[in-house]
Amino acid sequence: MSSTYILVADDARIGDLLTMASGSTTTAVVVGRREVADRVAAGGVDSVIWLGAPAADVPLEAYGPAVAQVVAEAAPDLVLAATRPADRVLAGAVVAATGAQVFTMVRSVTVSDGSVELGRDVFGGIAQEVVRVTGPVVLVVDGGPDVTAGSAVEVTERAAEVRPGVTVVEEQPAERAAVDLTRAPRIVTAGRGVKSRDDLALVDALAAALGAESACSRPLAEGLGWYTHDRYVGVTGQHVQPELYVAVGVSGQLQHVVGARGAGTVVAINADKDCPYFAEADYCVVGDLYALVPALTEALS
Ligand SMILES: Cc1cc2nc3c(=O)[nH]c(=O)nc-3n(C[C@H](O)[C@H](O)[C@H](O)COP(=O)(O)OP(=O)(O)OC[C@H]3O[C@@H](n4cnc5c(N)ncnc54)[C@H](O)[C@@H]3O)c2cc1C
Repeated sequence: MSSTYILVADDARIGDLLTMASGSTTTAVVVGRREVADRVAAGGVDSVIWLGAPAADVPLEAYGPAVAQVVAEAAPDLVLAATRPADRVLAGAVVAATGAQVFTMVRSVTVSDGSVELGRDVFGGIAQEVVRVTGPVVLVVDGGPDVTAGSAVEVTERAAEVRPGVTVVEEQPAERAAVDLTRAPRIVTAGRGVKSRDDLALVDALAAALGAESACSRPLAEGLGWYTHDRYVGVTGQHVQPELYVAVGVSGQLQHVVGARGAGTVVAINADKDCPYFAEADYCVVGDLYALVPALTEALS
């Protein structure tokens, strides 16, 4: 049977990684709180190696070599990590130490006879390709939901050799509190159909009426600077999985849509009846957002 190591940086949302690893013997290597290691141990893996939690003045990066060593010794067929920034730190350390090939946007994996076959999206999801790889492989993919608690396996504690010389000397709260869209149960997203920064109040009011987080398409964060980068959804932005996703004046280019494919119900509001989002959405509302959004907000309020 093939073996898969799953890297976990203090966050047990690895449900989709476990699905991807099914049929394989799975070991989770956890850096972070003991309760996260315990949660992962009860979540369906075959074994857990816990390397401890970084002290307040030690960045996660200092644990990279220790994680890489554990993985290099085991030489698994596959290493999986979630796309979250902290998990990517651990994945990067493993790639650097083992010379592994690293892939993103992977949808399917088959391990056989010492090689790994991957089905993955390319060009932001516009096309798919299948690649066969020999040698160590690291996949950085959406972590998915939290693990579901079941019967727990033992957690093996290993003392990590923490790389010296890296110290957190100061921490400052960000000017504006960051948002974790990946945990939001409802999201209302503004696109370029919103004509001015002031008009975002319309979208925010709808979000408030729905108890949702506000988000945006990339141009509103990167080009216009109306939102911080942690608020934009898409292939290079956040990958979200709310139960409700309302896209207001978003055309539905694949680079945006792939970031919200984990959503339950998708509502798209657009003036163009032929906009690409309507091919993906569950509810397609054709019309001027400047009329529809306030009406919807009022009805919901
Ligand atoms: C490598 C790469 C990576 C990218 N990554 C991302 C990403 O992660 N996330 C992302 O979002 N984009 C990403 N993009 C950009 C992406 O290709 C699109 O350009 C972008 O998503 C378009 O944003 P939009 O839908 O808000 O704007 P537009 O495409 O301009 O769409 C605006 C929509 O608003 C509608 N509209 C206009 N007026 C009204 C009105 N009054 N009422 C209702 N509807 C109206 C229009 O009909 C139109 O459909 C990426 C691009 C590249 C090349």
